Formats: sequence, C-alpha cells, structure tokens
Amino acid sequence: MTTLFRLACLCLLALAAGCTTAPAARPAARPPLLLVSIDGFRADYLDRGHSPALEALAREGVRGQGLEPAFPSLTFPNHYSLVTGRYPDHHGIVDNAMSVPGLGRFTLGNREAVGDGRWWDEAEPIWVTADRQGLKTATLFWPGSEASIHGHRPDYWLPYDGDMDYDARVDRVLHWLDLPPGQRPAFLTLYFEAVDSAGHYEGPQAAQTNQAIAQVDRALARLVAGLKQRGLYDHLNLIVLADHGMADTPPAQRIFLDDLVDPAHVQVVSTGAIAGIIPAPGHEAEVAAALLRPQPHMQCWRKADIPSRLHYGHNGRVPPLFCLAQVGWLITHNPGTVLHHGKAILGEHGFDNADPRMRALFVAHGPAFRAHARVPVFPNVDVYPLMTHLLGLRPAPNDGRYADVAGMLAPAAR
Ligand code: AMP
Ligand code: ZN
Ligand code: ZN
Repeated sequence: MTTLFRLACLCLLALAAGCTTAPAARPAARPPLLLVSIDGFRADYLDRGHSPALEALAREGVRGQGLEPAFPSLTFPNHYSLVTGRYPDHHGIVDNAMSVPGLGRFTLGNREAVGDGRWWDEAEPIWVTADRQGLKTATLFWPGSEASIHGHRPDYWLPYDGDMDYDARVDRVLHWLDLPPGQRPAFLTLYFEAVDSAGHYEGPQAAQTNQAIAQVDRALARLVAGLKQRGLYDHLNLIVLADHGMADTPPAQRIFLDDLVDPAHVQVVSTGAIAGIIPAPGHEAEVAAALLRPQPHMQCWRKADIPSRLHYGHNGRVPPLFCLAQVGWLITHNPGTVLHHGKAILGEHGFDNADPRMRALFVAHGPAFRAHARVPVFPNVDVYPLMTHLLGLRPAPNDGRYADVAGMLAPAAR
C-alpha cells in the first residue's frame, strides 16, 4: 500500500466513523529499549575472550572504552545514577548501607527498606519518567524497582531473587516483548549478579570470575537468539553495561577502625572501600581528631570537605565523617573479615570512581546506534539523558549531558 493510499483509507475510515476532523498525526512508535546490567563487569573484562556474544554486540554496535561510575562506586548508588542521571548526593542512595533518623536503616538485604519509596524519591528513575509520559515499562530486577516512587511503579516487575535462573530471566524479558501492542513495554531492564559475586569471592583475575563472565555471556547469547527469532535484533535498542569494576583486595590490606577510635564513641554506618562514621554525642572532637589526621592507606574528611570532583557530601544522608580507602585496601573492624553474603572477599569496589579499575562495561546495539563505533570513557549519569532521548521522553532534571553521548548515535537518531 502506498502512503497516499493508506492516508486516503484513514480519511475514509474517519469519515465513516462520523469524524469531522482528520485524525491527529501520531509519532511512529519508537523501538523498545532494553537496559541490561552485568553487575561488577569491569570495562577490560570484555577483552578476555570469555564473552563472544557481548564481543559480537560490541563489534557490530558501539563499544565504550569504559563507563565511569559515580562516587562511591557501589551497586545501589550506581544503579540509581544510571536510571536517574543524578549523582548519589542528588538522588539520595548515597551508600549501600545508610542510617537516617526518621527512616531507619537501609541495607541491600533489608527488603522492607529496599521497597520503601521514601529512600528513593529524592530523584525520578526512568520508569517513572516513562509512566508519567504514557509509556509502559518492565524491570527484571533493578534497585528501586520494587518501591512506589512518587506514586509510580514499573508496569511489570519482580521482587529481587538472586537465585532466579538466568535463562528464565531472559525468557521473561522476551515474553514481555511478545505482549501485544498496548501492553508491550517500551523500556525494559535485565540484571545479572554472577560476575560481581565471583569478583568479590575470588578476585578480578580469578578463573571463577572468567567462568562467571562466560555464564552471563551464555544468557546474553540466548537473549540475542530470541531477539533474532522475533525479528527484533535490528529493531530494538540494547544497552549492556555495568555499575562499576572490581579491584584486588588481598586480606593483608585492611584498616582497622577500632585501632583508631574507641568503638563505644562512634556509630559506624558503613565499612568497606568507604566508611561513614557518626561520632557519639560528646565525642565529636576526639573522633574527628583521630580520623582526620593523616592515615596510611586511607583518607577521612568532614563531609563538607570531601573533594568536589567526587560530587559527594552535601546530602543529609552522608554521615558527618567520611573515609575513603586507597584502592585495594578495606576499612573494617578489628578483628573483622570483610564479607559479601557471609563469605570472605578478595575483591571489592566502592573506591575512587576515577580509578581505571572501577571503570564499567558499556556496549550498545540497535537501530539508533552507530555500527562499528568506539567511544571514549564517559560518566554514567549520561545514560539517563541518552535513554530519555531514545524513548522520546522529556527528561527530569539530571546531572548528565546528552551532548556527551550524541556521538554514539546514528545521525538519523540524534
Ligand atoms: P554489592 O554489595 O555492592 O557488591 O552489591 C551486589 C549485590 O547487590 C548483589 O549480590 C545482590 O545481592 C544485591 N542486589 C542487586 N540488585 C538487587 C535488588 N534489586 N534488590 C536487592 N538486592 C540487590
Ligand atoms: Zn555492583
Ligand atoms: Zn559488588
């Protein structure tokens, strides 16, 4: 059917239905956008030869030299920066662990807190932006997706289950893409944790980390095959990225807070690559003096004095004293083993976000993206304006810059 003939038919149909005005021009539906996060997939892992499906996507589409995480380079702060375009200081998820008067305690394992919108509503994630502007969304796990934020939720979502089989995760996303128009989501997410877990338990160089890279890559191969089967491979915009990288943290490289301050005189809010500390009432000067003096392998600041390049320390949720370990060192209690899901670790992230070891994966493929393109390192707050552009949404206020990422788009999609 020619376009003219189709228009004539539409006019006739409108007349037959008793319409006196021509139907309003509707923008053509944009391709769906699928955002995949491989937690802890350091930028250079892509060159190890264990991820053929991902390498093919990178070869055929866009490969970023790396995605610079926001500070601190932790999972929840960065997943929320990716979908809000806001630095943690501006979106309120300032750490994986927080203690805030009136709100209580936030940790990744605290389901009640993770599902409580009051922790998340300092910013607007893209599924809320999309819902406000009439697009459907689906999340197969994403920090924040289990909470009602400003009264909005994804249309389709599952409570986080780290044991859910990877093939089943992929199949659920493909099922959502099979929904009829009107029900089909325009924006979807998919999440895998195995690469981060192996990096923590065994270190970034370990054979187990390479096995986890291969395991996630098999899930991506299944996704690509499913998209090809549906004729969607070239008609869906796919972004595969990570929240941060991973650094070796050998057990000898620990900093014991209790050797520096009396544990009875502080509330330690978080430990690891960073530590947030609230002095007990009456002990402010003593605790500050002990921490703020020069320390080997660690630097502490009053929150107002944190270097401005880190964009951190103005949010009320950041504790008054804040310490950052040198990359490879961890801040903990004495005696204390640093744990991930109850197991001792050899790798960690959370460090200075400018360190190359914290750099994350970025690969994109689809009709909006250039083919065979390489782009330089860029900050992850740019991903939100990139995604709102792809979906034709008006972005909420954010810290990212569309201009940083426009160069990766095919000219017609800019
Ligand atoms: P991290 O401790 O910073 O390495 O965070 C990684 C961990 O975050 C994963 O191993 C999961 O246990 C947890 N996680 C990731 N996504 C979610 C989610 N949507 N809800 C709850 N926990 C999550
Ligand atoms: Zn992570
Ligand atoms: Zn991690």
